[in-house]
Amino acid sequence: MPAVLDDVSAEILDLKKQLGATILAHYYQDGDIQALADITGDSLKLAREATKVDSPVIVFCGVLFMAETAKMLNPTKTVLLPDLQAGCSLVDACPADKLAHYQDFLRANDRKFQTVCYINSSAKVKALSDWVVTSGNAVEVVRDKVPAGYEVLFVPDKHLGRYVGEVTGRDMILWDGSCMVHEIFSLTDLLKQQKEHPGAVTIAHPECPKNILDHADFVGGTEVMIRHVGTFQEPTTFLVATEPNMMWQLEQRYPRHTYLGVPGITCSCNACPHMARNTLEKIRDCMRNRAPEITWQPEFDKAREVLTRSLLNPPAPAPHPVGD
Ligand code: SF4
Repeated sequence: MPAVLDDVSAEILDLKKQLGATILAHYYQDGDIQALADITGDSLKLAREATKVDSPVIVFCGVLFMAETAKMLNPTKTVLLPDLQAGCSLVDACPADKLAHYQDFLRANDRKFQTVCYINSSAKVKALSDWVVTSGNAVEVVRDKVPAGYEVLFVPDKHLGRYVGEVTGRDMILWDGSCMVHEIFSLTDLLKQQKEHPGAVTIAHPECPKNILDHADFVGGTEVMIRHVGTFQEPTTFLVATEPNMMWQLEQRYPRHTYLGVPGITCSCNACPHMARNTLEKIRDCMRNRAPEITWQPEFDKAREVLTRSLLNPPAPAPHPVGD
């Protein structure tokens, strides 16, 4: 929390009290948004924490699929998203009708498979899947839950799917999707940085392509990455190959270290334009107006079942009212 609050931040905290709201923020949000949040986290942590929130309103500072996930796991709560246009290139890469068509094709060819979808997907895609995973638990779910002898149709992130296949040794069928942020890290710049900072530790998100992961000292989802950095007691320089706002969170937790973002090929900052749609003003306005709100969609019923058995242990209490 900043020492002196600006007017908008002060108003947000005021509205939070009035509404009885809890603010959840993803690590890829601007630092000023993370500083105001009650809970910060990656997709897995936020999905789990959302089930423990006891306030009637959740303000979700992230992108649409995350707010939908929070709604599916909290059907009776009001879930607000500051900007409904905050999408995700991975969601866009996997339309549900194309996935259903491809699953039919595999079945028609007697392929024994289960569909594992990354949480960065639409509710319709989740509803078509056997399991939903995050970067934090994808390896465990594929290794422990998909029965032996089954191929894994992994959607929509080909880089995460390839990485999971490499670690688990499972037969993967990869969908051709990628994150527009993690896809574009520049190997040339990373190698240059590594040369300039010989003692630095390179940490990378598994959504990065193989050429970046091959040159990383540590690969892990955001929460795992944070834990890893915390194990270094001596001041260390980290080269960080993920969305740059993660460095704000790392600086808050472990200020003894130095963090340098790995540049992208086409954009030196690699910031996610979807996450950047949320601003303090939009957060204030959505709380003032109680809108935009995530409303229950027919596909949420099935998607919720898949989410619950995949991410929550024990499963979230059911049932829920439909159609609010
Ligand atoms: S960082 Fe990538 S995966 Fe995350 S919301 Fe942005 S586009 Fe989607």
